[in-house]
Amino acid sequence: MSGRGFVVGTATHVGRVREGNEDSHLAEPPLFAVADGMGGHRGGEVASALALEAIGAKLKREGHGDLAAAVREANLAVFERQTRDSSVSGMGTTLTAAIAGGDSLQLAHVGDSRAYVLRAGELRLLTEDHTIVHRMVKEGRISEAEARVHPQRSILTRALGVDVQIEVDELTVPVVEGDRFLLCTDGLTAMLEDDEVKLILVSATDPQEAADTLVEAANEAGGVDNTTAIVIDVRTDDEESTAAGEAAGRAGDPPPSRKRRRLLRRG
Ligand code: MN
Repeated sequence: MSGRGFVVGTATHVGRVREGNEDSHLAEPPLFAVADGMGGHRGGEVASALALEAIGAKLKREGHGDLAAAVREANLAVFERQTRDSSVSGMGTTLTAAIAGGDSLQLAHVGDSRAYVLRAGELRLLTEDHTIVHRMVKEGRISEAEARVHPQRSILTRALGVDVQIEVDELTVPVVEGDRFLLCTDGLTAMLEDDEVKLILVSATDPQEAADTLVEAANEAGGVDNTTAIVIDVRTDDEESTAAGEAAGRAGDPPPSRKRRRLLRRG
């Protein structure tokens, strides 16, 4: 054991427009994941929940070695269900999953949910959106600003459960003391610019406050989609126990000030 620990906060919300929450999330250290389902009726909800269930079960069964293999198995689970059950036919889901080790974080990713790391005051996007508009940006056909408001911005080029085969992005990130990782669905990043996300991640003292404030800010900016955030802090064991004490002491405190949240609202 390196003496490193992970302190986690999670938040999810249906938002201000949608009727149901099709996002799912999992925080069972060392495994963390967000999934954003799509499909008519209850399809989206079923797809995102089923994907996380499958991935969690496989890793629990076989150890936390091969995250991408678990994602491929989750893909098959969703694919088989949607081909077998006409009530959820055509469903699919994004998936951004992480396994946190002592010195590195293993990521597997499909779709337009995202993973970020806040390190030394800088926010870095670790994943690439599998969307038509991102492809257009890479090809130089539209700008990032145009992509944000493009009518096709939520159309995915890759999703879990759509086909028997799935291409999974894999990435291993070295973990540095003090790192704060964020896994989130597009409901967050559609509403908040990276600078706004960074400001909240820098300001919030503990991961639960960070996750809650991110989701609140997305709702205050419009909340047009479901929003889910998992915030993971890397700390030493000493810091971890201090943080646990702070969190306990915070239980009866009032919510974060309105004044600060108002500053985060988009124009
Ligand atoms: Mn979404």
